[in-house]
Order: sequence, then C-alpha cells, then structure tokens
Amino acid sequence: MPASYSEEYKDLEEKLRYTFKDKKLLEQALTHKSYAMEKGVKSYETLEFLGDALVNLFVVDILVCEFPQAKEGELAPMKAFFVSEEFLHQLAHELELERYLLVGGKKGKFKVNVSILGDAFESLWGAIYMDAGRDTNLTRTLFENLYRERIVTMAKSSDYRKDYKTILQEITQKRWKERPTYRVISVSGPQHGKVFEVECSVKGVRAVAVGSSKKEAEQLSAKRVLELLQEL
Ligand code: MN
Repeated sequence: MPASYSEEYKDLEEKLRYTFKDKKLLEQALTHKSYAMEKGVKSYETLEFLGDALVNLFVVDILVCEFPQAKEGELAPMKAFFVSEEFLHQLAHELELERYLLVGGKKGKFKVNVSILGDAFESLWGAIYMDAGRDTNLTRTLFENLYRERIVTMAKSSDYRKDYKTILQEITQKRWKERPTYRVISVSGPQHGKVFEVECSVKGVRAVAVGSSKKEAEQLSAKRVLELLQEL
C-alpha cells in the first residue's frame, strides 16, 4: 500500500461525503478487469454487480416516493433514464472517476469509455455498501444526499424524456444486447421545408415517424418503438 494511499482518495471521499474504512475495497471498486488481469488482483466486476442493484433500488425508491400517483408505465422510462449509462457516466465524471480508474495497458492507451465510467460508478456504491457493513440505509442516505434533488428536478421537468434514442438503446441493450437501427425511408418537400421519414427497428419491432429533420424523425420513431415495447 503506497504511503499516499489515504491522501490519494481524499478528494473523491470528500465528494462522496464518505470515508472508506477499507481503502483496498475502494481501490477494487476502481479496478478495471484489464488492470486486474495484468496485476493479478480483483476487478470491480462483483462490486459493480452489487452496485447496479443498489443504484436501481435507490433510484426507484426516490421515484416511487416522489410520484406516489404515477403508474408503473410512467415510472419505467424515468427509471430507465436515471440508471442509464449516459446519466451514470455524467455522475461518474462529476466525481472525476476517470482520474482514479486503474486500467491496463500503457498509460493513456486504454480508452475509458462511457460504459466503463458508468460501471465504475455502480461499483463504487457496491463498495460503499460493503464498507459500511452492508448498511442499506446509510448507503441510501448518502446516495440521496448527493443525487435525490437532481433526480427529482429532472424527472419533474421531463428533461429525461427528451432523448428517446438513448432511453430506447439502454432498454434494448439490456434486454437483447442489441441496438436499434435507423433508416431514412424518404425525404420529400421543398428545400426549405423538407420532411424526413425514418424507420426505427429493433428485434422485429418497427415504427415509422416523420420530422422536419433526420434527427427529429429518428427521435420520434424511437419514441413510437418505446411505446410499442411498453405495450408488449
Ligand atoms: Mn454496469
């Protein structure tokens, strides 16, 4: 253990408002399998597995408490957004997790992508939970102190709804390990008022939508597919 061990994680612990009793656990939470294989140490995989479940629970708990009248069909897309790679990556970035992440290969060679940062964020919560002696309440309170307000504000402003393509992709990747594809079927209308017709499809579920730009038509077709998936 390097001498600077506790110093090294000080900033991160301050941001989390939690001090680890077992710094090794924190280190494991930040160890990608590429580094773990090289050094023969444990990676964050099991902590991520645990953290994934915890983050899901905390997010759902916040949403159910905040929107007691909402139906499952309304809560599901909100939840999908707040546990999505996109959103968790953002939270990981705010904690500057990329600074701490241990990855294999020559320095800088390994590309830390959105998915790895999101995973590390989850594993961090698994590690906190374990370090706190499996104290669910303590872990949940920490999570809520950091993120509850933001999640509720975003959920109320419906910001999370804007990006249907992201939400859809998260869902289909989880369910089938597949991404939706988008195809421009037609472009019509005059130069200044073009109409784009786009088809979104995944696993045999298809929907077509039109928009004044390719982007808009893609978003709307993703929205339709999301609706179809909810009916299934
Ligand atoms: Mn994950």
